[in-house]
Amino acid sequence: MDDEPEDDELCVEYETEQYESTTAILATTADFFRVTVNFLHAAEDVAAMVRASAEENEGQRVACKAGCSWCCHQPVEVSAGEVLVVALATLALEDAGMEAFWDRVADHENRLACPALGPDGRCSIYPVRPAMCRAADSFDAGICKAALSDPKVPGRFSEASELVACRGAGHILALEDRGFDSRIYVLAPTLAAVGKMGLPEAERRWRAGQPLLPD
Ligand code: SF4
Repeated sequence: MDDEPEDDELCVEYETEQYESTTAILATTADFFRVTVNFLHAAEDVAAMVRASAEENEGQRVACKAGCSWCCHQPVEVSAGEVLVVALATLALEDAGMEAFWDRVADHENRLACPALGPDGRCSIYPVRPAMCRAADSFDAGICKAALSDPKVPGRFSEASELVACRGAGHILALEDRGFDSRIYVLAPTLAAVGKMGLPEAERRWRAGQPLLPD
């Protein structure tokens, strides 16, 4: 008899766990950083577990490594808190890096690459990268490259992205139930809006449950 939970059950389990975790932290603070990083750490744990299982039990090797950035050339779906965490992280970049970051954000309509992707092919805000990025573990970088020019090419990703999405659903539901912004945004254009309004105003909106972008 198979004791492993079915995929749907596992998804519900992760969604519920994250709902409870986000609800618990929202009961103590309206600090977007703490609330969001709590979710990001949970997403990281899921991705690490799936990665270890694939490598140890199935003999697969995750191909991702520093400087490989094929998957950073697509829209990144994020919560409002993830956008604010990225915007906050740019304050820690050295002056030239911060200026280049916001120049890439301003030019986002002309670029396929994520504005956080630096000229060295590395993520400039890696420690606080969005949950979706943490889950993008691939077993074949060549397929990631091919998928860039042909979206019909099926990826060869681990199941981390599905399970992190389950945690994300619980996170978003908890935000909604507590009156916070539960919209899903695309990182680059939303960063551009935050850059225009300024981080203090964006943070005020987050605390007030107001959207970062008009519907
Ligand atoms: S945030 Fe970082 S890891 Fe995610 S797509 Fe952008 S550059 Fe890549």
